[in-house]
Amino acid sequence: MKNIVWFSEGTKDQKELLGGKGANLAEMTSIGLPVPAGFIVTTDVCRQFLENQQLTQPLVEEIIRAVATLEERTHKSFGGNQQPLLVSVRSGAKYSMPRMMDTILNLGLTDQTVQTLAANTKNPTFAYDCYRRLIQMYGDVVKGIDKSHFESYLTTYKHKKGYPSDQSMVAPDWQEICEVFKSIYMEHTQERFPQDPLEQLLSAVQAVFRSWNNPRAITYRKIHKIAHDLGTAVTVQEMVFGNSGAASGTGVAFTRDPTTGHRGLFGEFLACAQGEDVVAGVRTPRPISDLAKTQPEIHAQFSAIAELLEDHYKDMQDIEFTIEKGRLFVLQTRNGKRTAKAAVQIAIDLVSEGKITKKAALHRLTPDMLDQLLHPIFSPESLAKASPLGQGLPASPGAAVGRVYFSAEAAVNAHQAGEKVILLRQETSPEDIDGMVVSEAIVTSRGGMTSHAAVVARGLGVCCVAGCDQLAVDSFLKQARCGEAIIQEGDYLSVDGTTGNLYQGALSLVASQDFGLLQTILDWSKERADLVVRANAETIEEIKTAASFGAAGIGLARTEHMFFGESRIWPMRQVILAETTEERQVALSQLKTFQLNDFKELLLQTKEQKCVIRLLDPPLHEFLPRPQEYEEMAKRSGYSLEKIKQRIHDLQEVNPMMGHRGSRLGITYPEIYEMQTAAIIEAALQVSDTGSVVYPEIMLPLISISEEMRVLRERLEMYIRQIFAHYQKEVPFKIGMMLETPRACLLTKELAPLADFFSFGTNDLTQMTFGFSRDDAAGFIQRYLDQGILSEDPYQHLDKAGVGQLMEQAIASIRQQTKEKAIGVCGEVGGDPQSIAFLREIGIDYVSCSPYRIPAAWLAIAQSAPDPLS
Ligand code: PEP
Ligand code: MG
Repeated sequence: MKNIVWFSEGTKDQKELLGGKGANLAEMTSIGLPVPAGFIVTTDVCRQFLENQQLTQPLVEEIIRAVATLEERTHKSFGGNQQPLLVSVRSGAKYSMPRMMDTILNLGLTDQTVQTLAANTKNPTFAYDCYRRLIQMYGDVVKGIDKSHFESYLTTYKHKKGYPSDQSMVAPDWQEICEVFKSIYMEHTQERFPQDPLEQLLSAVQAVFRSWNNPRAITYRKIHKIAHDLGTAVTVQEMVFGNSGAASGTGVAFTRDPTTGHRGLFGEFLACAQGEDVVAGVRTPRPISDLAKTQPEIHAQFSAIAELLEDHYKDMQDIEFTIEKGRLFVLQTRNGKRTAKAAVQIAIDLVSEGKITKKAALHRLTPDMLDQLLHPIFSPESLAKASPLGQGLPASPGAAVGRVYFSAEAAVNAHQAGEKVILLRQETSPEDIDGMVVSEAIVTSRGGMTSHAAVVARGLGVCCVAGCDQLAVDSFLKQARCGEAIIQEGDYLSVDGTTGNLYQGALSLVASQDFGLLQTILDWSKERADLVVRANAETIEEIKTAASFGAAGIGLARTEHMFFGESRIWPMRQVILAETTEERQVALSQLKTFQLNDFKELLLQTKEQKCVIRLLDPPLHEFLPRPQEYEEMAKRSGYSLEKIKQRIHDLQEVNPMMGHRGSRLGITYPEIYEMQTAAIIEAALQVSDTGSVVYPEIMLPLISISEEMRVLRERLEMYIRQIFAHYQKEVPFKIGMMLETPRACLLTKELAPLADFFSFGTNDLTQMTFGFSRDDAAGFIQRYLDQGILSEDPYQHLDKAGVGQLMEQAIASIRQQTKEKAIGVCGEVGGDPQSIAFLREIGIDYVSCSPYRIPAAWLAIAQSAPDPLS
């Protein structure tokens, strides 16, 4: 095992061992680019070091030998008084963790060598500035001296002297600063600043290794799901100086614009400066094009290198360079970070430039990039200034700004008055739909990824943060508390549904929609896809959106969503409260008129495609009037208030989600399912009369017992035959079932012959498999995640071990009987890119999800598709 690898020995494929930075420096060296010489202490060494907290003696000797070799290669000497060798010591892990770990520059400077450097460069200002930077960085990184001790002295000094910036400082100033910095160092460590460069180097290497475990690096790894045991490599590299005179400078450039993706060098340059000056923003850099005016040969050489690097890596590069007295050095190259829009643009352009294949282009993208293309986002500048007020679940992506309202009614009123509104509630219910539709964003303090708010918001394409349990919402007082902060009605709130973050005030938004780019990615994804994506949609708006995102029909139209308009909710209530079948029939016939029109629209929109319509599912209490509506209910129905209250009381259930809902309602209130079936079939007959081909598929929810399915199917089929007989014409139809209880999954052998198709309702199936209420689990699931009891929220990503196992067994037993019947997934994980590969593996034919999740689902399918494909 090699502990030390020279740049000239490594390659770009050794990121795990050499870190991303080291591997790329090695690669650039091997293709002949001007890279300052250096070596890498590997991540293996880091892991050993972190275990023992010390460098072994053989390793120390190896490093000393490597320094000697570096001296030979550079014709400089470490600590010598002819040509002093100075080095940088940088961290570099397998995955880029920008500025999370430590770096020390100018190592090798001492009271002695600083004088030589000043004499050799004839630039004492530069030499002493370098030295004070070293003392400061070394003090901070190696000895943990708070940077502010150095910085506040420097600020006071400049103030005292009346200097506007560091640039005004001259050699004696820096000399004095160096002396004071050394005494600050002494004061905090009781030691002299080390005058032995080797001691500096060995301590610096250890400090960089230790910085792998500093709190910000740990947090970064948690956020980006980077393993904690990878460790960092350390690169030790000869320093070159961009601050050594007029023909020197430093800069950073991208080979394409990281915001738009457009081709062409995009970067900044600072004459006579060191890299950190560009980052620190003390001086305003010039556009890289200025270099063409001042140093045209260097600009040409750099442009050629940039093109070569992009061709070599076949991706947009982010390159750091330094010019030392008219000589160009490349210090770093890496695949450049970019916005979602730029990522998609670059991937498409690289294909048309013949540099990568379509398949490679698709693999460069992540599903959430497509999400971002569809929704506005916060401008990076405003995000940089803001700190989150709280964080909930990222339930529906996008960013939004508006004024907060605590009830649907208030939201609607404010919207009508021309305001942009955010609906903030403990949780939402179907009655809030009017307020949800007009909101820029929906925020709830309770509920998970499959809560009402989350599901509806995703369907609407409205940004949503659900289950933000730091929020204490008081709808009565019209205020919410989040830690110390109080949010009052009418206050501005900024909501990021992609990260789950909430911000006080109004952040600025940028539209990032680019449907042209999206279309290309959708087309390429579909070419590779071996599963199809359908939509969970029922309104015309949703269906049109779904179609524009390439939905292959409807996988779930939840008919209960059709009962909530002002004109429908009252007859629906009448149906529920009715005491006799006759009374119920009257209200049902009113509802049927609405449903017939709904289904006609639905089938017209989806003609030629599959359209799965699910019969009523939720518990009836969701439709019941609220106390303030009892009077009106009494007026409309003619029942006394007492009767209404009594009936509502009778319908109350302790645990409605496990109670009288789904097909159980179909069994006990046959009229409701009959009305819905009649409306579907009559709508299909009418639409097919216009010459369109329709494929209505009726789906029964929450079946647990084969007898439920048999009885319902028999009744509905008989009913449908009567309708056909009445109209003397027929349409093709199917009757299928949801697989959303564990019992149904275990008994698919019995159920398979009874249904024409199957769709896993993973929301309920997850609820019942774990016994975690889908409406209440968000709070404790978060704690489970924090404590590592669960590694993922099973409502966000399919639980393969449990729920997945039930599904796998169910599919296998259905497939033993029939290969023909379609099996889909219409719970929320159907639209989860991370779950899709597993769903393919277990034999799912299609996934169905909210319209705005469709593009990401197609991409995930294409990315996980096995080769070769047509
Ligand atoms: C499910 O349970 O996964 C499902 C799709 O049905 P709903 O969310 O409407 O209960
Ligand atoms: Mg369900």
